[in-house]
Amino acid sequence: MASATFVIVGASLAGAKAAEALRGHGFDGRILLIGDEPDHPYERPPLSKGYLQGKQDRETIFVHPEQWYAEQAIDLRVDTTVTELDRDRRTVTLSGGERIGYDKLLLATGASPRRLPVPGADLDGVLYLRRVGDCERIQRTFQSASRIVFVGGGWIGLEVAAAAREADVDVTVLEAGELPLLRVMGRQIAPVFADLHREHGVDLRLTAQVTEIIGENGTVAGVRLADGTRIDADAVVVGIGAVPNTQLAAEAGLHVDNGIIVEASLRTSDPDIHAAGDVANAFHPMLGKHIRVEHWANALHQPETAARSMLGEAASYDRVPYFFTDQYDLGMEYAGYAEPDSYDDVVVRGDLTSRQFIAFWTAQGRVLAGMNVNTWDVNEAIQRLVRSGTQVNRDRLADPDVPLEELATG
Ligand code: FAD
Ligand code: NAP
Repeated sequence: MASATFVIVGASLAGAKAAEALRGHGFDGRILLIGDEPDHPYERPPLSKGYLQGKQDRETIFVHPEQWYAEQAIDLRVDTTVTELDRDRRTVTLSGGERIGYDKLLLATGASPRRLPVPGADLDGVLYLRRVGDCERIQRTFQSASRIVFVGGGWIGLEVAAAAREADVDVTVLEAGELPLLRVMGRQIAPVFADLHREHGVDLRLTAQVTEIIGENGTVAGVRLADGTRIDADAVVVGIGAVPNTQLAAEAGLHVDNGIIVEASLRTSDPDIHAAGDVANAFHPMLGKHIRVEHWANALHQPETAARSMLGEAASYDRVPYFFTDQYDLGMEYAGYAEPDSYDDVVVRGDLTSRQFIAFWTAQGRVLAGMNVNTWDVNEAIQRLVRSGTQVNRDRLADPDVPLEELATG
């Protein structure tokens, strides 16, 4: 395939891992990795944790050192947007006007923060977090601000609120739902996170509807809620979800529906185009349906499957979905997939109040998902349990003396 050109759009975790996997599988053609950010590919989890808190150096966030791309003969173009995809001619057009032909294309365009649609949302001091530059702006805000309001009690809101509290900033978190992380955790487990933040001095307000960001002299001075309440703030951090970057794909006529629709092989409706990472809404063989996962492990591992499939191998992505978070002294891993109406029971092994436990979301005795909180070296066993589909006894699942490995075999 020495004469073939493979183009990857999006130079972040999924894009960089795809380039690595293509070389790893012996592809010796041309690889172009094109990204619109100024930096070479980096990982985003440290932006709301270690790097934001100044505990991690900038060099540690990168997927590979900068020289690695040249060493692997990967033509990395940073600061470059792909503005058009022409599937008939099999070309992409770059922001500078250059047109590049491809034999195979991978769309790894990720997701962007959902914008807050209220008056005042474009004031100075209204901050979002996706890129390393956003993180560094928030870091500086921790130095200058004494009160920050967070809109959204999701992953960004909670992780950055924890970092702000550790920087001794006053924090209010405004969550639209009845509990933070309610959709992911459900009513039994979500209070663990609400309590954690309140114990660390966060003013957590639930069912809060932000109607306006109040400005004074062009900069943020506070937030107005639907009930008329004003909350003073020196800055506002918005984390109300992410939207997949599907514009290129949609304009090119690919099948798009909450992300780019792909098969388990990560191939799109066009056999020469694949998609991976946050932007891909992929058929998951174990779950029997399409899912779009906005988490690190998915962007880390899907590219291996995409690369093999781009090289003509039969490949299928069926890893158990996985993610993690760190907030204050709480670390957790979650494996599986449990939608709000898909489980009929939540089983806890350990103690919720001391925040050291494993929670299992089950349906008719089968474990759909499990989350280990401040409990380590068990996530692989949880994944095996989820994958096995075995019906487990509730008492044994809750009993810390019964090894999880035993349950996976019935
Ligand atoms: P992205 O990282 O979104 O990268 C896509 C890239 O493509 C971007 O650089 C984008 O600018 C570029 N791009 C888009 N369109 C074009 C175009 N037309 N031309 C050129 N370039 C383009 N997950 C966890 O599991 N645990 C965590 O603790 C965790 N922490 C996180 C913290 C933060 C602050 C954020 C933002 C996310 C976090 N995540 C975490 C989620 C995880 O980082 C994402 O799932 C992952 O980054 C997705 O990688 P990706 O390569 O698919 O997409
Ligand atoms: P998120 O996790 O989807 O959370 C958004 C939260 O904001 C939800 O609780 C949502 O409530 C709430 N919300 C929505 N609109 C609101 C409004 N107008 N006012 C107040 N609250 C509102 O998204 P995120 O925290 O913004 O994170 C962005 C992306 O980064 C996601 O892809 C996320 O997975 C990723 N990320 C992941 C991690 C991790 O895995 N540890 C860490 C950081 C970031 P509803 O649920 O009721 O809509």
